[in-house]
Amino acid sequence: MAVYNPKSLKAEEFINNEEILETLEYAEENKNNVELIDEILEKARPKKTEKGFRCEGLSHREASVLLACEIPEKIEEIYKIAEEIKLAFYGNRIVMFAPLYLSNYCVNGCVYCPYHLKNKHIARKKLTQEEVKNEVIALQDMGHKRLAIEAGEDPVNNPIEYILECIKTIYSVNHKNGAIRRVNVNIAATTVENYRLLKEAGIGTYILFQETYHKQSYLELHPTGPKHDYDYHTEAMDRAMEGGIDDVGLGVLFGLEMYKYEFAGLLMHAEHLEAVHGVGPHTISVPRIKHADDIDPTAFDNSISDEIFAKITACIRLAVPYTGMIISTRESEEVRGKLLHLGISQVSGASRTSVGGYTEEERPHDTEQFDVSDQRTLDEVVRWLMENNHIPSFCTACYREGRTGDRFMSLCKSGQIINCCHPNALMTLAEYLVDYASEETKKIGFELIEKELQKITNEKVKSIATQNIKDIKSSNRRDFRF
Ligand code: SAM
Repeated sequence: MAVYNPKSLKAEEFINNEEILETLEYAEENKNNVELIDEILEKARPKKTEKGFRCEGLSHREASVLLACEIPEKIEEIYKIAEEIKLAFYGNRIVMFAPLYLSNYCVNGCVYCPYHLKNKHIARKKLTQEEVKNEVIALQDMGHKRLAIEAGEDPVNNPIEYILECIKTIYSVNHKNGAIRRVNVNIAATTVENYRLLKEAGIGTYILFQETYHKQSYLELHPTGPKHDYDYHTEAMDRAMEGGIDDVGLGVLFGLEMYKYEFAGLLMHAEHLEAVHGVGPHTISVPRIKHADDIDPTAFDNSISDEIFAKITACIRLAVPYTGMIISTRESEEVRGKLLHLGISQVSGASRTSVGGYTEEERPHDTEQFDVSDQRTLDEVVRWLMENNHIPSFCTACYREGRTGDRFMSLCKSGQIINCCHPNALMTLAEYLVDYASEETKKIGFELIEKELQKITNEKVKSIATQNIKDIKSSNRRDFRF
Protein backbone atom coordinates (compact mmCIF):
# COMPACT_ATOMS: atom_id res chain seq x y z
CA MET A 1 0.00 0.00 0.00
CA ALA A 2 1.33 3.48 -0.88
CA VAL A 3 2.37 5.63 2.07
CA TYR A 4 1.51 9.33 2.29
CA ASN A 5 4.49 11.52 1.49
CA PRO A 6 3.94 15.12 0.31
CA LYS A 7 7.53 15.29 -0.92
CA SER A 8 7.26 12.23 -3.13
CA LEU A 9 6.96 12.69 -6.90
CA LYS A 10 4.60 9.72 -7.17
CA ALA A 11 0.91 10.62 -7.48
CA GLU A 12 -0.27 7.82 -5.17
CA GLU A 13 2.06 9.06 -2.43
CA PHE A 14 1.37 12.80 -2.52
CA ILE A 15 -2.34 12.38 -3.29
CA ASN A 16 -2.67 9.45 -0.99
CA ASN A 17 -6.10 7.81 -0.84
CA GLU A 18 -5.70 6.56 2.76
CA GLU A 19 -4.59 10.00 3.93
CA ILE A 20 -7.66 11.57 2.30
CA LEU A 21 -10.00 8.99 3.87
CA GLU A 22 -8.42 9.51 7.30
CA THR A 23 -8.70 13.28 6.81
CA LEU A 24 -12.41 12.98 6.07
CA GLU A 25 -12.90 10.79 9.12
CA TYR A 26 -10.99 13.27 11.30
CA ALA A 27 -13.05 16.15 9.88
CA GLU A 28 -16.32 14.31 10.51
CA GLU A 29 -15.32 13.49 14.11
CA ASN A 30 -14.39 17.11 14.78
CA LYS A 31 -17.05 19.01 12.87
CA ASN A 32 -18.72 20.09 16.14
CA ASN A 33 -15.53 20.44 18.15
CA VAL A 34 -15.88 24.15 18.85
CA GLU A 35 -12.59 24.42 20.67
CA LEU A 36 -10.64 22.94 17.76
CA ILE A 37 -12.61 24.97 15.20
CA ASP A 38 -11.84 28.19 17.08
CA GLU A 39 -8.18 27.26 17.19
CA ILE A 40 -8.12 26.64 13.43
CA LEU A 41 -9.97 29.90 12.74
CA GLU A 42 -7.47 31.77 14.88
CA LYS A 43 -4.61 30.21 12.95
CA ALA A 44 -6.22 31.19 9.62
CA ARG A 45 -6.79 34.84 10.56
CA PRO A 46 -4.39 37.36 8.94
CA LYS A 47 -1.99 38.84 11.52
CA LYS A 48 -0.81 42.41 11.28
CA THR A 49 2.97 42.79 10.99
CA GLU A 50 5.26 45.81 10.74
CA LYS A 51 5.19 45.61 6.96
CA GLY A 52 1.65 44.43 6.29
CA PHE A 53 0.01 41.12 7.04
CA ARG A 54 1.09 37.56 7.54
CA CYS A 55 -1.00 34.45 7.17
CA GLU A 56 -0.10 30.91 8.11
CA GLY A 57 -2.60 29.08 5.96
CA LEU A 58 -4.08 25.74 7.01
CA SER A 59 -3.20 22.11 6.45
CA HIS A 60 -5.58 19.94 4.47
CA ARG A 61 -6.72 18.33 7.73
CA GLU A 62 -7.46 21.65 9.43
CA ALA A 63 -9.24 23.07 6.40
CA SER A 64 -11.27 19.86 6.06
CA VAL A 65 -12.57 20.30 9.62
CA LEU A 66 -13.82 23.77 8.66
CA LEU A 67 -15.42 22.43 5.50
CA ALA A 68 -17.24 19.74 7.52
CA CYS A 69 -18.38 22.19 10.20
CA GLU A 70 -22.12 22.91 10.08
CA ILE A 71 -22.38 25.43 12.93
CA PRO A 72 -23.90 28.57 11.31
CA GLU A 73 -21.93 31.11 13.41
CA LYS A 74 -18.66 29.35 12.61
CA ILE A 75 -19.47 29.30 8.90
CA GLU A 76 -20.13 33.05 9.08
CA GLU A 77 -16.73 33.42 10.76
CA ILE A 78 -15.07 31.42 7.95
CA TYR A 79 -16.65 33.80 5.41
CA LYS A 80 -15.52 36.84 7.34
CA ILE A 81 -11.92 35.62 7.55
CA ALA A 82 -11.94 34.67 3.85
CA GLU A 83 -12.80 38.25 2.95
CA GLU A 84 -10.23 39.64 5.41
CA ILE A 85 -7.51 37.52 3.79
CA LYS A 86 -8.52 38.55 0.29
CA LEU A 87 -8.44 42.24 1.26
CA ALA A 88 -5.20 41.93 3.22
CA PHE A 89 -3.21 40.37 0.37
CA TYR A 90 -4.98 41.34 -2.80
CA GLY A 91 -6.86 44.46 -1.76
CA ASN A 92 -10.09 45.07 -3.66
CA ARG A 93 -8.48 44.36 -7.04
CA ILE A 94 -9.97 41.74 -9.34
CA VAL A 95 -7.82 40.57 -12.24
CA MET A 96 -9.69 40.26 -15.55
CA PHE A 97 -9.14 37.63 -18.24
CA ALA A 98 -10.88 35.76 -21.05
CA PRO A 99 -10.54 32.23 -22.41
CA LEU A 100 -9.60 31.74 -26.05
CA TYR A 101 -10.57 28.38 -27.56
CA LEU A 102 -8.12 27.32 -30.25
CA SER A 103 -9.38 23.87 -31.19
CA ASN A 104 -12.01 21.40 -30.02
CA TYR A 105 -10.45 18.38 -31.71
CA CYS A 106 -9.89 15.84 -28.98
CA VAL A 107 -8.95 12.17 -28.77
CA ASN A 108 -9.99 11.69 -25.14
CA GLY A 109 -13.18 10.14 -23.86
CA CYS A 110 -13.93 12.44 -20.86
CA VAL A 111 -17.57 11.65 -20.12
CA TYR A 112 -18.44 15.16 -18.85
CA CYS A 113 -16.95 17.08 -21.80
CA PRO A 114 -18.70 17.59 -25.15
CA TYR A 115 -15.35 17.51 -26.95
CA HIS A 116 -15.03 13.77 -26.23
CA LEU A 117 -14.07 11.66 -29.22
CA LYS A 118 -17.36 9.80 -29.49
CA ASN A 119 -19.41 13.00 -29.82
CA LYS A 120 -20.05 12.94 -33.53
CA HIS A 121 -22.61 15.74 -33.68
CA ILE A 122 -20.50 18.60 -32.33
CA ALA A 123 -18.84 20.61 -35.10
CA ARG A 124 -15.06 20.25 -34.95
CA LYS A 125 -13.02 23.33 -35.54
CA LYS A 126 -9.43 24.48 -35.25
CA LEU A 127 -8.47 28.12 -35.73
CA THR A 128 -6.09 29.07 -38.52
CA GLN A 129 -3.46 31.69 -37.63
CA GLU A 130 -5.55 34.27 -39.49
CA GLU A 131 -8.55 33.30 -37.35
CA VAL A 132 -6.44 33.44 -34.16
CA LYS A 133 -5.48 36.98 -35.16
CA ASN A 134 -9.12 37.96 -35.71
CA GLU A 135 -10.18 36.49 -32.37
CA VAL A 136 -7.38 38.40 -30.65
CA ILE A 137 -8.42 41.64 -32.34
CA ALA A 138 -12.00 41.08 -31.14
CA LEU A 139 -10.70 40.44 -27.60
CA GLN A 140 -8.42 43.49 -27.71
CA ASP A 141 -11.35 45.59 -28.92
CA MET A 142 -13.20 44.66 -25.74
CA GLY A 143 -10.17 45.65 -23.65
CA HIS A 144 -8.72 42.28 -22.67
CA LYS A 145 -4.99 42.03 -21.94
CA ARG A 146 -4.79 38.55 -20.44
CA LEU A 147 -5.97 35.32 -22.04
CA ALA A 148 -6.22 31.66 -21.11
CA ILE A 149 -5.87 29.54 -24.22
CA GLU A 150 -7.84 26.31 -24.32
CA ALA A 151 -7.61 23.27 -26.56
CA GLY A 152 -8.65 19.65 -26.66
CA GLU A 153 -5.93 16.99 -26.70
CA ASP A 154 -5.13 15.78 -30.18
CA PRO A 155 -1.51 15.12 -31.16
CA VAL A 156 -2.37 15.23 -34.86
CA ASN A 157 -4.64 18.28 -35.01
CA ASN A 158 -3.32 20.28 -32.04
CA PRO A 159 0.34 19.28 -31.61
CA ILE A 160 2.57 21.43 -29.41
CA GLU A 161 3.90 23.19 -32.54
CA TYR A 162 0.36 24.42 -33.27
CA ILE A 163 -0.09 25.72 -29.72
CA LEU A 164 3.30 27.49 -29.87
CA GLU A 165 2.46 29.07 -33.20
CA CYS A 166 -0.85 30.35 -31.80
CA ILE A 167 0.94 31.85 -28.77
CA LYS A 168 3.35 33.64 -31.10
CA THR A 169 0.46 34.98 -33.17
CA ILE A 170 -1.41 36.16 -30.07
CA TYR A 171 1.57 38.11 -28.73
CA SER A 172 2.22 39.63 -32.16
CA VAL A 173 -1.18 41.33 -32.56
CA ASN A 174 -1.34 45.02 -31.63
CA HIS A 175 -4.64 46.45 -32.67
CA LYS A 176 -5.06 50.16 -31.84
CA ASN A 177 -3.92 50.42 -28.18
CA GLY A 178 -4.50 46.70 -27.69
CA ALA A 179 -1.99 44.04 -26.71
CA ILE A 180 -2.26 40.66 -25.04
CA ARG A 181 0.35 40.78 -22.33
CA ARG A 182 -0.07 37.44 -20.68
CA VAL A 183 -1.12 34.16 -22.28
CA ASN A 184 -2.01 31.49 -19.75
CA VAL A 185 -2.29 27.99 -21.13
CA ASN A 186 -4.85 25.30 -20.36
CA ILE A 187 -3.87 22.27 -22.41
CA ALA A 188 -3.57 18.61 -21.60
CA ALA A 189 -0.76 17.17 -19.49
CA THR A 190 2.42 16.94 -21.53
CA THR A 191 6.16 16.24 -21.37
CA VAL A 192 8.91 18.22 -19.60
CA GLU A 193 10.29 19.09 -23.01
CA ASN A 194 6.96 20.56 -24.16
CA TYR A 195 6.60 22.51 -20.92
CA ARG A 196 10.05 23.94 -21.57
CA LEU A 197 8.89 25.03 -25.04
CA LEU A 198 5.80 26.67 -23.55
CA LYS A 199 7.98 28.51 -21.05
CA GLU A 200 10.26 29.71 -23.86
CA ALA A 201 7.18 30.91 -25.76
CA GLY A 202 6.53 33.26 -22.84
CA ILE A 203 3.45 31.78 -21.26
CA GLY A 204 2.11 33.00 -17.94
CA THR A 205 0.42 30.32 -15.85
CA TYR A 206 0.12 26.71 -16.94
CA ILE A 207 -3.35 25.60 -15.89
CA LEU A 208 -4.47 22.01 -15.67
CA PHE A 209 -7.57 20.90 -13.83
CA GLN A 210 -7.27 17.60 -12.06
CA GLU A 211 -11.02 17.08 -12.69
CA THR A 212 -11.10 14.59 -9.80
CA TYR A 213 -8.47 13.42 -7.34
CA HIS A 214 -10.35 10.16 -6.76
CA LYS A 215 -8.37 7.66 -8.80
CA GLN A 216 -11.13 5.09 -9.38
CA SER A 217 -13.62 7.77 -10.47
CA TYR A 218 -10.95 9.42 -12.58
CA LEU A 219 -10.36 6.19 -14.49
CA GLU A 220 -14.10 5.78 -15.10
CA LEU A 221 -14.65 9.43 -16.09
CA HIS A 222 -11.72 9.27 -18.52
CA PRO A 223 -12.26 5.82 -19.99
CA THR A 224 -10.20 6.26 -23.14
CA GLY A 225 -7.39 8.37 -24.57
CA PRO A 226 -4.11 9.64 -23.09
CA LYS A 227 -5.98 11.46 -20.31
CA HIS A 228 -6.96 8.06 -18.86
CA ASP A 229 -3.50 7.88 -17.26
CA TYR A 230 -4.20 9.21 -13.76
CA ASP A 231 -0.58 9.28 -12.63
CA TYR A 232 0.65 11.10 -15.74
CA HIS A 233 -2.10 13.70 -15.33
CA THR A 234 -1.61 14.13 -11.57
CA GLU A 235 2.17 14.47 -11.87
CA ALA A 236 1.92 17.04 -14.70
CA MET A 237 2.58 20.07 -12.49
CA ASP A 238 5.89 18.57 -11.34
CA ARG A 239 6.92 18.13 -14.96
CA ALA A 240 5.78 21.69 -15.74
CA MET A 241 7.94 23.01 -12.91
CA GLU A 242 10.85 20.86 -14.04
CA GLY A 243 10.39 22.44 -17.49
CA GLY A 244 10.82 25.89 -15.90
CA ILE A 245 7.19 27.00 -15.52
CA ASP A 246 6.93 28.44 -12.03
CA ASP A 247 3.31 29.60 -12.11
CA VAL A 248 0.90 26.69 -12.21
CA GLY A 249 -2.87 26.70 -11.75
CA LEU A 250 -4.81 23.86 -10.09
CA GLY A 251 -8.52 23.09 -10.18
CA VAL A 252 -11.14 20.43 -9.65
CA LEU A 253 -14.30 20.04 -11.71
CA PHE A 254 -16.80 20.12 -8.87
CA GLY A 255 -19.76 17.82 -9.33
CA LEU A 256 -17.84 14.77 -10.53
CA GLU A 257 -16.93 13.31 -7.13
CA MET A 258 -17.64 13.96 -3.46
CA TYR A 259 -16.59 17.51 -2.78
CA LYS A 260 -14.94 16.80 0.58
CA TYR A 261 -12.65 14.24 -1.05
CA GLU A 262 -11.75 16.69 -3.86
CA PHE A 263 -11.12 19.50 -1.41
CA ALA A 264 -8.63 17.45 0.63
CA GLY A 265 -6.93 16.24 -2.57
CA LEU A 266 -6.64 19.75 -3.96
CA LEU A 267 -5.00 21.07 -0.80
CA MET A 268 -2.65 18.09 -0.65
CA HIS A 269 -1.62 18.89 -4.21
CA ALA A 270 -0.88 22.49 -3.19
CA GLU A 271 1.11 21.27 -0.15
CA HIS A 272 3.05 18.90 -2.39
CA LEU A 273 4.07 21.70 -4.79
CA GLU A 274 5.18 23.84 -1.88
CA ALA A 275 7.11 20.94 -0.31
CA VAL A 276 8.90 19.92 -3.51
CA HIS A 277 9.31 23.17 -5.45
CA GLY A 278 9.19 25.74 -2.64
CA VAL A 279 6.21 27.50 -4.21
CA GLY A 280 2.55 26.59 -4.13
CA PRO A 281 0.04 27.00 -6.96
CA HIS A 282 -0.23 30.48 -8.46
CA THR A 283 -3.97 30.02 -8.89
CA ILE A 284 -6.77 27.66 -7.99
CA SER A 285 -9.92 27.52 -10.13
CA VAL A 286 -13.27 26.29 -8.90
CA PRO A 287 -15.26 25.21 -11.97
CA ARG A 288 -18.59 23.37 -11.59
CA ILE A 289 -19.90 21.00 -14.20
CA LYS A 290 -22.33 22.59 -16.67
CA HIS A 291 -24.80 21.55 -19.30
CA ALA A 292 -23.17 21.12 -22.72
CA ASP A 293 -23.80 19.42 -26.04
CA ASP A 294 -24.23 15.70 -25.28
CA ILE A 295 -23.70 16.39 -21.54
CA ASP A 296 -26.43 16.41 -18.91
CA PRO A 297 -24.99 17.66 -15.61
CA THR A 298 -27.79 15.93 -13.65
CA ALA A 299 -26.33 12.61 -14.77
CA PHE A 300 -23.51 13.29 -12.30
CA ASP A 301 -24.83 12.72 -8.81
CA ASN A 302 -22.28 14.75 -6.86
CA SER A 303 -23.53 18.18 -7.84
CA ILE A 304 -23.12 20.80 -5.12
CA SER A 305 -25.45 23.59 -4.03
CA ASP A 306 -24.48 27.27 -4.19
CA GLU A 307 -24.11 27.24 -0.39
CA ILE A 308 -21.63 24.37 -0.37
CA PHE A 309 -19.82 25.97 -3.30
CA ALA A 310 -19.42 29.19 -1.31
CA LYS A 311 -18.13 27.26 1.69
CA ILE A 312 -15.57 25.39 -0.44
CA THR A 313 -14.32 28.67 -1.93
CA ALA A 314 -13.98 30.33 1.47
CA CYS A 315 -12.20 27.32 3.00
CA ILE A 316 -9.69 27.24 0.11
CA ARG A 317 -9.06 30.95 0.75
CA LEU A 318 -8.23 30.24 4.40
CA ALA A 319 -5.99 27.28 3.56
CA VAL A 320 -3.85 28.90 0.82
CA PRO A 321 -3.97 32.66 1.49
CA TYR A 322 -1.43 33.70 -1.15
CA THR A 323 -2.89 31.78 -4.06
CA GLY A 324 -5.02 33.62 -6.62
CA MET A 325 -8.54 32.21 -6.95
CA ILE A 326 -10.45 32.16 -10.21
CA ILE A 327 -14.16 32.06 -10.98
CA SER A 328 -15.31 31.74 -14.59
CA THR A 329 -18.49 32.67 -16.42
CA ARG A 330 -19.74 29.13 -15.80
CA GLU A 331 -21.27 30.84 -12.78
CA SER A 332 -24.09 33.39 -12.76
CA GLU A 333 -23.77 37.05 -11.82
CA GLU A 334 -25.37 36.26 -8.48
CA VAL A 335 -22.99 33.44 -7.54
CA ARG A 336 -19.97 35.40 -8.78
CA GLY A 337 -21.08 38.41 -6.75
CA LYS A 338 -21.22 36.32 -3.60
CA LEU A 339 -17.88 34.55 -4.17
CA LEU A 340 -16.09 37.86 -4.78
CA HIS A 341 -16.48 38.40 -1.03
CA LEU A 342 -15.07 35.01 -0.16
CA GLY A 343 -11.60 35.16 -1.66
CA ILE A 344 -11.90 35.23 -5.45
CA SER A 345 -9.21 37.41 -7.05
CA GLN A 346 -9.66 36.73 -10.80
CA VAL A 347 -12.75 36.62 -13.00
CA SER A 348 -13.31 36.11 -16.69
CA GLY A 349 -15.61 38.45 -18.58
CA ALA A 350 -17.58 38.25 -21.84
CA SER A 351 -16.27 34.72 -22.38
CA ARG A 352 -17.05 32.61 -25.40
CA THR A 353 -16.34 28.91 -24.94
CA SER A 354 -16.56 28.12 -28.63
CA VAL A 355 -13.81 27.94 -31.22
CA GLY A 356 -13.98 31.25 -33.10
CA GLY A 357 -16.71 32.58 -30.79
CA TYR A 358 -15.42 36.14 -30.45
CA THR A 359 -15.84 36.89 -34.13
CA GLU A 360 -19.35 35.36 -34.33
CA GLU A 361 -22.28 37.51 -33.34
CA GLU A 362 -25.03 35.15 -32.21
CA ARG A 363 -24.77 32.68 -29.35
CA PRO A 364 -24.92 29.78 -28.72
CA HIS A 365 -22.32 28.48 -31.12
CA ASP A 366 -22.12 24.94 -32.34
CA THR A 367 -18.58 24.37 -31.03
CA GLU A 368 -19.28 25.61 -27.50
CA GLN A 369 -17.65 23.66 -24.66
CA PHE A 370 -20.32 24.42 -22.06
CA ASP A 371 -23.11 26.88 -21.32
CA VAL A 372 -21.98 30.25 -20.07
CA SER A 373 -24.20 31.56 -17.24
CA ASP A 374 -22.82 35.09 -17.05
CA GLN A 375 -23.31 36.43 -20.56
CA ARG A 376 -22.70 40.11 -19.87
CA THR A 377 -20.31 42.21 -21.94
CA LEU A 378 -16.90 43.12 -20.51
CA ASP A 379 -18.10 46.72 -20.09
CA GLU A 380 -21.04 45.48 -18.01
CA VAL A 381 -18.87 43.21 -15.86
CA VAL A 382 -16.31 45.98 -15.29
CA ARG A 383 -19.05 48.47 -14.31
CA TRP A 384 -20.72 45.94 -12.02
CA LEU A 385 -17.40 45.21 -10.27
CA MET A 386 -16.77 48.92 -9.71
CA GLU A 387 -20.31 49.55 -8.47
CA ASN A 388 -19.55 46.91 -5.87
CA ASN A 389 -16.27 48.56 -4.90
CA HIS A 390 -13.90 46.16 -6.63
CA ILE A 391 -11.14 47.43 -8.91
CA PRO A 392 -11.03 45.52 -12.19
CA SER A 393 -7.35 45.18 -13.01
CA PHE A 394 -5.85 44.68 -16.46
CA CYS A 395 -2.33 44.67 -15.09
CA THR A 396 0.24 42.12 -16.24
CA ALA A 397 3.30 43.90 -14.82
CA CYS A 398 4.43 41.10 -12.48
CA TYR A 399 4.78 38.81 -15.41
CA ARG A 400 6.59 41.41 -17.52
CA GLU A 401 8.94 42.25 -14.63
CA GLY A 402 9.64 38.58 -13.96
CA ARG A 403 7.77 38.63 -10.65
CA THR A 404 6.57 35.05 -10.98
CA GLY A 405 6.73 32.00 -8.76
CA ASP A 406 8.11 32.77 -5.30
CA ARG A 407 9.05 36.34 -6.32
CA PHE A 408 5.36 37.13 -6.69
CA MET A 409 4.57 35.34 -3.45
CA SER A 410 7.13 37.38 -1.53
CA LEU A 411 5.66 40.62 -2.89
CA CYS A 412 2.30 39.40 -1.71
CA LYS A 413 3.66 38.43 1.70
CA SER A 414 5.58 41.68 2.22
CA GLY A 415 2.37 43.72 2.15
CA GLN A 416 3.75 45.98 -0.59
CA ILE A 417 0.90 45.22 -2.95
CA ILE A 418 -0.75 48.50 -1.98
CA ASN A 419 2.26 50.42 -3.37
CA CYS A 420 2.78 48.25 -6.42
CA CYS A 421 -0.20 46.24 -7.65
CA HIS A 422 -2.73 48.81 -6.48
CA PRO A 423 -1.33 51.77 -8.48
CA ASN A 424 -0.72 49.45 -11.45
CA ALA A 425 -4.34 48.29 -11.31
CA LEU A 426 -5.55 51.89 -11.23
CA MET A 427 -3.37 52.90 -14.19
CA THR A 428 -4.44 49.92 -16.31
CA LEU A 429 -8.06 50.53 -15.37
CA ALA A 430 -7.67 54.16 -16.48
CA GLU A 431 -6.29 52.96 -19.83
CA TYR A 432 -9.20 50.55 -20.20
CA LEU A 433 -11.72 53.30 -19.41
CA VAL A 434 -10.23 55.71 -21.94
CA ASP A 435 -9.88 53.10 -24.70
CA TYR A 436 -12.91 50.85 -24.37
CA ALA A 437 -15.50 51.83 -21.76
CA SER A 438 -18.96 53.27 -22.27
CA GLU A 439 -19.55 56.81 -20.95
CA GLU A 440 -21.40 55.54 -17.89
CA THR A 441 -18.65 53.05 -17.00
CA LYS A 442 -16.02 55.72 -17.55
CA LYS A 443 -17.72 58.09 -15.13
CA ILE A 444 -18.03 55.49 -12.36
CA GLY A 445 -14.48 54.32 -13.05
CA PHE A 446 -12.72 57.65 -12.77
CA GLU A 447 -14.61 58.49 -9.58
CA LEU A 448 -13.48 55.17 -8.10
CA ILE A 449 -9.87 55.74 -9.22
CA GLU A 450 -9.79 59.15 -7.45
CA LYS A 451 -10.91 57.50 -4.24
CA GLU A 452 -8.56 54.53 -4.57
CA LEU A 453 -5.46 56.66 -5.25
CA GLN A 454 -5.79 57.94 -1.68
CA LYS A 455 -5.13 54.44 -0.31
CA ILE A 456 -1.55 54.40 -1.62
CA THR A 457 0.67 54.86 1.45
CA ASN A 458 3.95 55.76 -0.28
CA GLU A 459 3.68 59.46 -1.21
CA LYS A 460 6.12 59.22 -4.10
CA VAL A 461 4.25 56.27 -5.63
CA LYS A 462 0.96 58.11 -5.13
CA SER A 463 2.17 61.20 -6.91
CA ILE A 464 3.62 59.24 -9.87
CA ALA A 465 0.40 57.22 -10.23
CA THR A 466 -1.75 60.35 -10.01
CA GLN A 467 0.32 62.08 -12.69
CA ASN A 468 0.24 59.01 -14.94
CA ILE A 469 -3.52 58.74 -14.71
CA LYS A 470 -3.85 62.43 -15.62
CA ASP A 471 -1.62 61.74 -18.62
CA ILE A 472 -3.62 58.67 -19.64
CA LYS A 473 -6.77 60.82 -19.58
CA SER A 474 -5.13 63.35 -21.84
CA SER A 475 -3.88 60.61 -24.18
CA ASN A 476 -0.26 61.10 -23.17
CA ARG A 477 0.49 57.47 -22.43
CA ARG A 478 3.86 56.04 -21.38
CA ASP A 479 3.11 52.39 -20.58
CA PHE A 480 4.67 52.88 -17.14
CA ARG A 481 4.22 50.28 -14.38
CA PHE A 482 5.63 49.87 -10.88
N1 SAM B 1 -7.79 19.38 -22.91
C1 SAM B 1 -7.26 20.04 -21.76
C2 SAM B 1 -7.28 19.11 -20.59
O1 SAM B 1 -7.53 17.93 -20.78
O2 SAM B 1 -7.00 19.52 -19.47
C3 SAM B 1 -7.97 21.37 -21.57
C4 SAM B 1 -9.27 21.22 -20.94
S1 SAM B 1 -10.75 22.01 -21.30
C5 SAM B 1 -10.57 23.00 -22.67
C6 SAM B 1 -10.87 23.01 -19.88
C7 SAM B 1 -11.67 22.45 -18.74
O3 SAM B 1 -13.06 22.55 -19.00
C8 SAM B 1 -11.49 20.99 -18.39
O4 SAM B 1 -10.33 20.77 -17.66
C9 SAM B 1 -12.75 20.67 -17.60
O5 SAM B 1 -12.54 20.78 -16.21
C10 SAM B 1 -13.72 21.76 -18.03
N2 SAM B 1 -14.97 21.18 -18.58
C11 SAM B 1 -15.10 20.18 -19.45
N3 SAM B 1 -16.40 19.90 -19.64
C12 SAM B 1 -17.12 20.73 -18.86
C13 SAM B 1 -18.51 20.91 -18.59
N4 SAM B 1 -19.44 20.16 -19.17
N5 SAM B 1 -18.87 21.86 -17.70
C14 SAM B 1 -17.95 22.64 -17.10
N6 SAM B 1 -16.62 22.52 -17.31
C15 SAM B 1 -16.20 21.57 -18.17
